[in-house]
Amino acid sequence: RASEYVVPTPFLSCLYGTQASVQTEESDNIGFKGHDIITPFTTRWQCTNENPLVIERSEGSYVYDTNGRKYLDALAGLWCTSLGGNEPRLVAAATKQLNTLPFYHSFWNHTNMPSLELAKELLEMFTARKMGKVFYTNSGSEANDTQVKLVWYYNNALGRPKKKKFIARSLAYHGSTLIAASLTGLTGMHQQFDIPAPFALHTDCPHYWRYHLPGETEEEFSTRLAKNLEDLILKEGPETIAAFIAEPVMGAGGAILPPTTYFEKIQAVLKKYDILFIADEVICAFGRLGAMFGCDKYNIKPDLVSIAKALSSAYMPIGAVLVSPEISDVIHSQSDKLGSFAHGFTYSGHPTACAVALETLKIYKERNIVEQVNQISPRFQDGIKAYSDSPIIGEIRGTGLVSGTDFVDNKSPNDPFPPEWGVGAYFGSECRKNGLIVRAAGNNITMAPPFIISPQEVDEIISIYGKALKATEERVK
Ligand code: PLP
Repeated sequence: RASEYVVPTPFLSCLYGTQASVQTEESDNIGFKGHDIITPFTTRWQCTNENPLVIERSEGSYVYDTNGRKYLDALAGLWCTSLGGNEPRLVAAATKQLNTLPFYHSFWNHTNMPSLELAKELLEMFTARKMGKVFYTNSGSEANDTQVKLVWYYNNALGRPKKKKFIARSLAYHGSTLIAASLTGLTGMHQQFDIPAPFALHTDCPHYWRYHLPGETEEEFSTRLAKNLEDLILKEGPETIAAFIAEPVMGAGGAILPPTTYFEKIQAVLKKYDILFIADEVICAFGRLGAMFGCDKYNIKPDLVSIAKALSSAYMPIGAVLVSPEISDVIHSQSDKLGSFAHGFTYSGHPTACAVALETLKIYKERNIVEQVNQISPRFQDGIKAYSDSPIIGEIRGTGLVSGTDFVDNKSPNDPFPPEWGVGAYFGSECRKNGLIVRAAGNNITMAPPFIISPQEVDEIISIYGKALKATEERVK
């Protein structure tokens, strides 16, 4: 039954969070075999035995490699090129800003117009609750590192120096800098780096299909997880727990949706013990879930929010933290006593990145991007979910333009395929052979196409997914 297709073992040590891009055919020689880059989340066998997949240009939902091969990018880069590969307005916004003020920093109360305008726009757009201020970063990881520093500073300012621990969730992804990787709940990202740091604790992953007990309803599952969270808080001491961080829909963990009443119950526990809620909206924000923010969709009232990716449709690197008025007031008012909030990046509030982000948000509004996602998403979700009966699929789930598939034996979460079979990687490589890019990690596939995807392109995804599934079924027979 086992496949002769063997994924080299080094791959297995970093299954989680890995963009498994297995090439099954010899790549054309582009002159960079054994190239000079340590590419992120890549094992040695991938870069010594194979040429990299070198993408040269993009157009709409498609990318083209250096051999002229065309791929439908069902991952929108890394869940980020929301407006596709060649939006001329973003190029024009960048060019205009580069011709005016390519750079000026934001330290010591200096700043620039695009960063001010963008902050105003973001604070108006985020309506799940009123936010007070914006702190700019270059990435989602930096946004989550910033969250930790903001919260620690805040609790020091309030005279609560013990209230410093963070609770995140198993299978969460919050980034790869040391602090963000500590919050991340993927063991493959911890083992070789001596993390998580002691301040980072992890509670249950809310994946109902995988973790519910026999006979347990979604609501009962949520009640149990909220109780486990409360038990952890009580065990550690509520006076030591500063914040809880969660993605509204978990991305890299496998596109995991919160079960019914989950966030309602979790928020009630956090409120009881005066623990802040940080929404990591790095993937979810700006329409991905069919709502402007994941917080809108799941009625989350966060104290802090991390955003990045679709903020600029990834045309420029930019991330940000939205800070509640209560927290920003404490930080500002106490800084004369405690010293400045000594944190920031040369490129915080980079004017060109901010100008591109502003234009991105303008486009979202003008084109009513949330409505557009809601128009197209049933075709995408229903089309993929139609494959749920496959004997090698345990669950297909998703919402808006995010989708996850788990491959298992006997349709049971308790019967995962052995990792050495590389089922997800094989499926991913079959997709790629047929001109489709998906994310494969272990026995899981995720997709997050651009918001501008057309009905015909959705049909193409569904058709190639079907072909790859058939080939994978045959392989594991
Ligand atoms: N948070 C979430 C939910 C993410 O999915 C990611 C990246 O995928 C990050 C944070 C880290 O963002 P970046 O890669 O921009 O540092």
